Amino acid sequence: MDLLEYQARELFESFDVPVLPGVVATTPAAARDAFGQLDSDVAVVKAQVRAGGRGKAGGVKLVRSADEAETTAAAILDLVIKDLPVDAVMLSPGADIAEEFYFSILLDRTAGSYLAMCSVEGGIDIETLAVERPEALVKVALDPSSGITADVARDIVEQAGFKEADKDAVAAVLQKLWTVFHESDATLVEVNPLVKVAGGAILALDAKVTLDENAEYRHDDWGNYHETSAAVDLERQARELDLNYVKLDGNVGVIGNGAGLVMSTLDVVERAGRDLPGHPKPANFLDIGGGASSTVMANGLRIIMSDPQVKAVLVNVFGGITACNDVAQGIVAALEVLGDEANLPIVVRLDGNAVDVGKAILREANHPLIRVENTMDGAAAAVAKLASERS
Ligand code: GDP
Ligand code: MN
Repeated sequence: MDLLEYQARELFESFDVPVLPGVVATTPAAARDAFGQLDSDVAVVKAQVRAGGRGKAGGVKLVRSADEAETTAAAILDLVIKDLPVDAVMLSPGADIAEEFYFSILLDRTAGSYLAMCSVEGGIDIETLAVERPEALVKVALDPSSGITADVARDIVEQAGFKEADKDAVAAVLQKLWTVFHESDATLVEVNPLVKVAGGAILALDAKVTLDENAEYRHDDWGNYHETSAAVDLERQARELDLNYVKLDGNVGVIGNGAGLVMSTLDVVERAGRDLPGHPKPANFLDIGGGASSTVMANGLRIIMSDPQVKAVLVNVFGGITACNDVAQGIVAALEVLGDEANLPIVVRLDGNAVDVGKAILREANHPLIRVENTMDGAAAAVAKLASERS
């Protein structure tokens, strides 16, 4: 779960990480007021979207008056940055930046541990730095049980090559950022830029935090962080229905039983759609597991069909303990439950235990939306063609 900058800034503040004041505004008029509240000659207006590179996209601007704050906020609130509309801006006092650094702590999945990354060349795109000047980006593996102790912090600032006069102040901030990461069950804490301002103070000028959703049960306050995008809403609804659902970007809804079968179904659909007009692709991962009851099937179809991107649905089930006749009955019953809510073609491929009975049930139901295919490849081709024609 990614936080917006202002949320991450507040989190930093609560752990005593040095940050500048920030006032959030959702209208140009509120931005004008915010400028007054900050009581600073210069302020920065920053787009609040869950994406990096806001500066380059025109989402970070310095302003020198309440008038300018209002017009600049209006312009930024009109932006769409990396497909994300800007619903809010944050105003902060303009920092008098002397130097920009980079620091992050992240979950290194390959190493199965945490990693700290640091550079005295901050402010720029870190992916570019990592490729073009990898020697300027220091990486230090962290022991998850102790994290960034005073010694580790010292080691990081030494390796990164901070000036002698800045080392202690930077090291102290790194230790605090570890506390944020650890106490907040984060998988990413990134500060780009970490800055030294005129006068020498070290400040976190940007804040990017990803929290581990698996830890939500031990953080009562995470409710405020939930995103409201359509994709996230669908995933939350699915979670409430105990469905194993992940939203993807395509237009073919996919339901299957067993994570392995669903994963390979996604691949086969992607391949079937590759050369068709509109390039049909899987719209989701949905594993309905072993007991494909009609309720589970109805819930699954409902979630998938409420995704406006979806143009056709593929149900791919291999009957095991739950036999194909139960699955077929589940599909028919689900369509009865859904009534007019079900409005997309559904290609069904059944195989395994009691496949003949299952197919007979579907044939008999003779539902106008259902089309039965005998093989996984045939079903993928059929559903990709339907999605292509309908998009
Ligand atoms: P990002 O582009 O999404 O990473 O947004 P940042 O918050 O990192 O801002 C982008 C850049 O704007 C920073 O690297 C700074 O160079 C600059 N910037 C941000 N805040 C201030 C500020 O208060 N004063 C000045 N002079 N520059 C700022
Ligand atoms: Mn940044």
